Amino acid sequence: MLIRNFIGGRWVGATSADSLPLSNPATGEALGQVPLSTDADVATAVTAAAQAFPAWRAVPAIERIQVLFRLKASLERELDPLAELMTREHGKTREESAGELKRGIESLTHACAIPTLMMGETLENIAPGIDCETVRQPLGVFAVITPYNFPVMIPLWFWPFAVATGNTVVLKPSERDPLTHQRVVELAIEAGLPPGVLNVVHGDQRAVSALLTHPEVRGVSFVGSSPVARSIYAQAAASGKRVQALGGAKNHMIVLPDADVEATARAVVGSVYGAAGQRCLAGSVIVGVGEAYRPMREAILEGASALRLGNGLDAGVTMGPVISAPHRQRVAGYVDQGEREGATLLPDGRAATVTAYPEGHWFGPTVFEGVTPEMAVGREEIFGPVAGLTRADSLEAAIDLVHRNAYGNAISLFTRSGAAAREFRYRAGISMIGVNIGVVAPMAFFPFGGSRGSFYGDLKAQGKDAIDFYTDQRVVISKW
Ligand code: NAD
Repeated sequence: MLIRNFIGGRWVGATSADSLPLSNPATGEALGQVPLSTDADVATAVTAAAQAFPAWRAVPAIERIQVLFRLKASLERELDPLAELMTREHGKTREESAGELKRGIESLTHACAIPTLMMGETLENIAPGIDCETVRQPLGVFAVITPYNFPVMIPLWFWPFAVATGNTVVLKPSERDPLTHQRVVELAIEAGLPPGVLNVVHGDQRAVSALLTHPEVRGVSFVGSSPVARSIYAQAAASGKRVQALGGAKNHMIVLPDADVEATARAVVGSVYGAAGQRCLAGSVIVGVGEAYRPMREAILEGASALRLGNGLDAGVTMGPVISAPHRQRVAGYVDQGEREGATLLPDGRAATVTAYPEGHWFGPTVFEGVTPEMAVGREEIFGPVAGLTRADSLEAAIDLVHRNAYGNAISLFTRSGAAAREFRYRAGISMIGVNIGVVAPMAFFPFGGSRGSFYGDLKAQGKDAIDFYTDQRVVISKW
């Protein structure tokens, strides 16, 4: 399939011949070549976005959102083919792809509320005869840089809000699965998005670096791994840009003895192994408190053994491949290291195969026991289907154990006790908190983002934060 940049309303090739091969991670089927854009390509895209800005800003908000309404209807109509394409390029199951698309559509729906969300405030008579008001105004060109694990939902966390508020955008999608979003762009054009309002440049860190230093880019929305998020934050801020940079995660799930064992195991297994562990909200370390440990361990082992690895388009498959051979190697490296560091390996996914698909990047459900916060498997983001089990004597000890980790994306507690849940919420110290929830994913009208080493910036994705991030509040004081 042809993968091209989209600049100023036209599909164009990159000016360099460099490209990366794109293939189906389950079957090895070649899907196309991803162009690696140069500084000149990025500059052309930013110029197109900057030129489109004044006219787009002048379109009344109620008209701007009509485009998004039409796109929402198209995405709903094309959900099945889009989900199939996503599974082919990413590997997640068809159901997981459809679920992702629905979450993306929720973002789009929330962005359609911009005429209300963008309203300013007024106070009459701040001094005799003087009134004061705020108006929210768009800023210009925003760069949006996104990861491979949610190739449609994460771009839709950002660009619909940016364009609904009257800005224009240059998106740099992940170079590992840009095809499904390319179809979303085609549908956005059909829905009436004017040329230059949304531009797409493909590429790797070279394109990112050109965006971060371009003087016309006013702000940057980034999602990816923590080391890159930290560096994006530093570079963009040093160039005087607004920046929100969402990073990686090491999510802990704490199970108390009074938890419903079956429901907890279902939630934990879904969280750890969904999308083959390639989610920033994936559970990674499961902490059994006191007597909760043994039944939880058995239920998780049973749940993991029931998963069916395979091509996400085949019926009955519940876990797809990981994205690439190097990523498979990286996950296997963590499992090797876990063994060396003394954790006990129960099911070992390293040798997993799927007979019908010898080219797939398979990694089976893996469980470690005796994981400590010092071990790499207890400390670092693995981003694969690996659970680490550990014990604590009390809820307090479990929370202390979590706080020894540098990340702070999501945390969950499983209990039937309201008092324990309340204490947990008060002390968790992490941004996305679940009580009896496996995947703590805030819906589009709430802020999405972590804390500590999982987030660099102030304003998070979606929710009201999106409006604050993509607009400046101008204060007008008038006396007549
Ligand atoms: P990644 O950091 O490798 O890449 C993310 C984006 O940054 C891509 O567009 C990539 O081209 C670009 N990039 C990569 N290296 C770069 C560099 N050195 N300089 C500049 N740009 C660079 O992340 P990934 O592997 O695509 O995605 C997985 C990561 O994203 C995981 O760590 C996951 O936890 C994280 N993630 C976080 C959230 C969240 O909400 N916090 C959501 C999804 C994914």
